[in-house]
Amino acid sequence: MTHPSVLVINAGSSSIKYQLVDTVDGEAIASGVVERIGQSEGIVTHKHAGEQTRLDEPVPDHATGLRRVLDLFAEHGPDIASANVVAVGHRVVQGGSLFSGPTLVTDEVVEQIRSLVPLAPLHNPGHVAGLEVARELLPDVPHVVIFDTAFFQTLPEAAFTYAIDREVAAANQVRRYGFHGTSHDFVSKAAAEFLGRPLADLRQIILHLGNGASVSAVRGGVAVETSMGLTPLEGLVMGTRSGDIDPAVIFHLHRTAGMSVDEIDTLLNKRSGMLGLTGESDFRAIHELVEQGSQDARLALDVYAHRLKKYVGSYLAVLGGVDVITFTAGIGENDDVVRGLALAGLAELGIEIDPVRNAGRKKEPTIISTDASRVTVLVVPTNEELAIAQQSVARVTELAAAPTATPL
Ligand code: ADP
Repeated sequence: MTHPSVLVINAGSSSIKYQLVDTVDGEAIASGVVERIGQSEGIVTHKHAGEQTRLDEPVPDHATGLRRVLDLFAEHGPDIASANVVAVGHRVVQGGSLFSGPTLVTDEVVEQIRSLVPLAPLHNPGHVAGLEVARELLPDVPHVVIFDTAFFQTLPEAAFTYAIDREVAAANQVRRYGFHGTSHDFVSKAAAEFLGRPLADLRQIILHLGNGASVSAVRGGVAVETSMGLTPLEGLVMGTRSGDIDPAVIFHLHRTAGMSVDEIDTLLNKRSGMLGLTGESDFRAIHELVEQGSQDARLALDVYAHRLKKYVGSYLAVLGGVDVITFTAGIGENDDVVRGLALAGLAELGIEIDPVRNAGRKKEPTIISTDASRVTVLVVPTNEELAIAQQSVARVTELAAAPTATPL
């Protein structure tokens, strides 16, 4: 009997990423991406059983994109009908204050996600389009939504409230939501499991360092603080985002440089961070620049590590002490220089990295602190697709078992 699988869909504004995940062994049975939806030249790539197929053709909308994907499954495998697909799991970035866990998709849920478009204008419209098309094309399986924000719905009010006029904030849903929740949730659980310690006993700091980057503080498996806010712009220095800045920079650029709000939005989200400081957003390229003697790249690395260290220190205070610090995502898993810089000089706080254990890229959970270090420092690879697949199955199973379950 084929293992149960979940088709994980991440529909963006101009792309659809997908992965068919085996929920028992966690392997990706097939994966791919539809790119440049709505542009004159589209690309669809599908990978299965070591083979990659690529279509170069215009993809006018999400419906056409997903139809192409299903055609590719039919032509190049695996056959969706016999893949024992028990759910379709959709990633949605912004769930606002409406959703605090995996949610079975209904017409009402789609409308609620649509109602959050003003909070996530770059993300939620693509998600809604993807959800509608997928439900139409795959009507016989339950669809489940997994929100990036859900894990952070446990943040205490003191952590999620901005100190601005309460009425203005309430009228406009202005508060901190946090993002990358699926990864922080998955990694905090995986870290406890790897260490063989009860999740309930651990105070953890998770550093998710990908192109987007965020930190969380997790006490006993419950998120109590995170670095992203109303949008993913707040917090750490990222590939192309500034992270924390004085909000008055925006007024200053508007008044003095005559930049429009949209121009400043693009500047801070797409042309800042490591890209703004060095001309490159990828850390591999930045290390090359450092080797070639670039002072800008050296400074950018220092700015990046300094911000990380500030967050580690403040989350240590928020938690009243920390047991485990875990690095994850593209940079966290692969960049030993960044890991070393971010936690250098913290021996007095009980945090000591072992340079030999830290060296190199990590494909498996690994301890990188010294035996003497009071705080255990780990690298744990994240797997958001697997997390979405597991949560989708759990939700569907839960609903099927509940006596008053909504019919699937
Ligand atoms: P996202 O999912 O946010 O797009 P990822 O978690 O895949 O990002 O991380 C991508 C980033 O990881 C790249 O932009 C690059 O900076 C970094 N990265 C990937 N591989 C390496 C490596 N071998 N060494 C250093 N950095 C790496």
